[in-house]
Amino acid sequence: MGDVKRIGVLTSGGDAPGMNAAIRGVVRTALNRGLSVVGIKRGYEGLLACDISELNGKSVSDIIHRGGTSLLTARCPEMLEKKYQEKAADICRIMKIDALITIGGDGTFRGAAALSELGVNVMGIPATIDLDLAYTDYTIGFDTAVNTAMEAINKIRDTSSSHERCSVVEVMGRRCGNIALWCSITGGAEAVIIPEHPVSTEDVIKEIIQNRAKGKSHNLIVVAEGRGGSEALAKEIEKVTGIVTRATILGYLQRGGSPSARDRMEGSLMGYNCVEAIMNGERNRAMGVINGARISMDIKEALSCTKEYNDTLYNVIKVLSV
Ligand code: ATP
Repeated sequence: MGDVKRIGVLTSGGDAPGMNAAIRGVVRTALNRGLSVVGIKRGYEGLLACDISELNGKSVSDIIHRGGTSLLTARCPEMLEKKYQEKAADICRIMKIDALITIGGDGTFRGAAALSELGVNVMGIPATIDLDLAYTDYTIGFDTAVNTAMEAINKIRDTSSSHERCSVVEVMGRRCGNIALWCSITGGAEAVIIPEHPVSTEDVIKEIIQNRAKGKSHNLIVVAEGRGGSEALAKEIEKVTGIVTRATILGYLQRGGSPSARDRMEGSLMGYNCVEAIMNGERNRAMGVINGARISMDIKEALSCTKEYNDTLYNVIKVLSV
């Protein structure tokens, strides 16, 4: 594929607040640059079903403040198979999609990388509440998800402190403890349990007992989804300490909601930068932020990046909880 005249955009995987800002950023920048834009519904599922339609400036009106994604999203297991990847690449060619902008998490980028192998020009915009793409310091949706979980924790704290209970709150993040770490600091938790830093139930209980002895009248423990087991932990805490303990799994509550200013900003800037990068001849790149600088990286290289787990936030929680 040579010159880019027509861009396709899709959102895929889990929805994340700020995806709409990214779609809007892509569409309006592309139109401003004289390109035509098509929207693909339901991620790769819609691409395979050829659910593709022309977008104009109005198509993205009144979406910047909305959570979720106006293009809809889906998980599409067929894309793991070569024959469907080939079909998707053929559809891109037939529909004259000169560059396909994929907005989503690592799975979405893997799908895009597979299409790049088949000659499709792809770009990736990182959007996942989990903040689990190692190549970038930020993924769209994380800030809103943390704020939503923090507000829920505030409410749980009111009840927990009034009844002098212990609350165990399980937050999202899949294999990654970032949401849990951020919620723990901003929600004032005394302990966090994340997959990256295993801790035994006995140690958590010991900490609760010690904190009660220091005069603490209620307790808040945050558990990351990737560690799980919050119900069993609550039962065990109550059994050993006699403190009434309740587990709350926040679940999908954290995925939706109007995006924060940060997620609207990141979505808008990454959408804009992505189209500008295409206009500058970049192909098969993932957009991102490193140390405050806006970057793009080869999408396969981005997928191969790994990040060492850093204990800093965990240690801050330990210090601030006492
Ligand atoms: P989130 O982090 O929010 O879950 P994600 O993009 O990682 O987002 P996935 O469900 O993992 O979500 O991936 C989205 C879609 O990308 C999958 O449903 C599938 O269609 C495609 N995909 C995932 N992995 C691959 C792969 N290895 N090869 C090709 N396509 C893939």
